[in-house]
Amino acid sequence: MITRALITASLTFAFSLPVLAQTASRGLEETGSCAFKALGGTRKVQERADFSDPGIHVTYYRLRLNLSPASTLLTGDVSARAVCVAESLSTVQFDLSGSMRVDSVLGSGGSLRFSQFLQGFQVQLERTYHKGETLTLDTYYGGVPGATGFGSFEFSSQNGVPWIWTLSEPYGARNWWPCKDDNNDKADSVDMFVTVPAGLKVGSNGTLAGTQANGDGTTTFHWSERYPIAAYLVSLAATNYVEIDDWFTYTPSDSMPIINYVLPQTLSDGVGALGETKSMLRIFSEAYGLYPFINEKYGHSQFGWGGAMEHQTMTSTTNFAESTISHELAHQWFGDMITCANWPNLWLNEGFAVFSESVFLERFYGADAYKAHIGDAMSAAMNATGTLYVQDTSTVAGLFDFNRVYAKGAWTLHMLRHVLGDSVFFRSMRAYAADPRFRFRSATTEGFRSVCESVSGKDLGYFFDEWVYGEGYPRYGYQWTSGPSAGGYRVTLTLSETGSSAATPFFRMPIDIRLVAGTRDTTFTVFHTATGETFTFQVPFPPSDVQIDPDKWILRDVVSPDAILPEAYALAQNYPNPFNPGTWLSFSLPHRSDVTLTVYDPLGREITVLIRGQLEAGTHAVRWEGTDAGGTRVASGTYFYRLTAGTYTETRKMMLLR
Ligand SMILES: [Zn+2]
Repeated sequence: MITRALITASLTFAFSLPVLAQTASRGLEETGSCAFKALGGTRKVQERADFSDPGIHVTYYRLRLNLSPASTLLTGDVSARAVCVAESLSTVQFDLSGSMRVDSVLGSGGSLRFSQFLQGFQVQLERTYHKGETLTLDTYYGGVPGATGFGSFEFSSQNGVPWIWTLSEPYGARNWWPCKDDNNDKADSVDMFVTVPAGLKVGSNGTLAGTQANGDGTTTFHWSERYPIAAYLVSLAATNYVEIDDWFTYTPSDSMPIINYVLPQTLSDGVGALGETKSMLRIFSEAYGLYPFINEKYGHSQFGWGGAMEHQTMTSTTNFAESTISHELAHQWFGDMITCANWPNLWLNEGFAVFSESVFLERFYGADAYKAHIGDAMSAAMNATGTLYVQDTSTVAGLFDFNRVYAKGAWTLHMLRHVLGDSVFFRSMRAYAADPRFRFRSATTEGFRSVCESVSGKDLGYFFDEWVYGEGYPRYGYQWTSGPSAGGYRVTLTLSETGSSAATPFFRMPIDIRLVAGTRDTTFTVFHTATGETFTFQVPFPPSDVQIDPDKWILRDVVSPDAILPEAYALAQNYPNPFNPGTWLSFSLPHRSDVTLTVYDPLGREITVLIRGQLEAGTHAVRWEGTDAGGTRVASGTYFYRLTAGTYTETRKMMLLR
């Protein structure tokens, strides 16, 4: 689901679930073939996906829905085939909002007794079923779908034409169809028959298996999804769409259709980056493995919600912005093929999708585009409150928090990329996408971590503990000093760290340290395990600057260094020596001083003055290119350089070899 627009929109719906809980405080408990009455009884409201039955695994749904825009009524039946996974089962529960009335439930032997509650219904089976047995239940129901979360099911209109769409994430599937609303129990396949007034076109999951004019002013569309699908990803959208088709050619002889259902007026306004969809399919297939639903299609249907939602094989979207299209397409791997096992792990959907927006940009436009895009999310990620793992998932505003789940989620992958290195990171992503434990199933943070650990051979417990279950980010302070050593320069760096949140006072992290001298630099990576840790580096030049994480691979603050002042004046031996054509001259000042640094020949004649002026306390370096004051190259031989700083004077010898 996308992103910033969502955050604004979500506030509108932020209190939907609590309101539902308040207004419908009692559930109905009555047995019979026609049980629905005014809500009553004593059963507690269940806000989350915990009504559905752990005793069954649903393998297949067939939805047959009649949509009446004039009355905003939905009627139909849903047949569910399930395997008994409990030792024995005499009742089965499904999720279904109390605003939908169950008329009857048919089993293999005919009509079954059932009880309806606010969040679902319980069916009394005609006999006890045992582990491994299959049962099929067909529920006839109808009503005006309720709206929770982001709306679930909307009867709307555009240009006077009915416009109907669904958006069930996270708990809204039950608002319009009876299901087991549990990300851990995907149906293996779904058939959806949707009957709408003639002139409307219905988009949905999978492939369009058939269209039938019913001769009564209605048309029925049959969509068939043959890949496993979570209940919240089952979707439909309908209006007088214009179809724009394209192809994703993934081998010289294999292509998959790209099918877009667009509003007629959008065609004249333009369809944005829609034409890039096939490039995105190629890029993500290269990054994460072939598009998961390759035997079916990918595409979009336009809806009016104000954002976009990654419905399986057919994203619903309001706009065709590049970042929207790439975000929702990336969800087909992370969200749809591998679904977060529960909502606290939503970053496995959203963090991956935002990160993938950057991956697309990197491979389409270049590395700078990646950096710019991930950099744009940095301040949002730093403003995240709480842990990446969302404990309270009872409101969509709290759950779909951009700073926390989207921006910090993306940054967590960005940081992991640096921790593992590019090649191991993308191998890990592909291994995760291919792992039979997760592929077409669901995953938790621990599942993803286990793949990264087995691919990299590294223990990543610290990383996930800090960034998924910890809060805030590190703030680095540093001090450094350098001096001549063993024919080069030894730089000593002391790193200090505090966490921005008291909940996570320290982040163990690999940190890039860049030593800079003029246009030269060299980068080391240190593994920081304790505040106050000291690192030393040997470099061939005296650095003028030390930079901490210069390429922003870490979500962090860097505080300017407190200079470690030299204890005494010193003039170092030049490096390299002998030299040709240039060499570094460096010296230390314990106080701010008037400094002169002059080069002489062996007869004491002044060749050039390299420094004359006041300098701050610290270690300084200047390069002599073997030229006199006029810029003319001087001859081979011995030269002297003299530092005068206040009352201090020191002279050293150096050798130029042409
Ligand atoms: Zn998303």
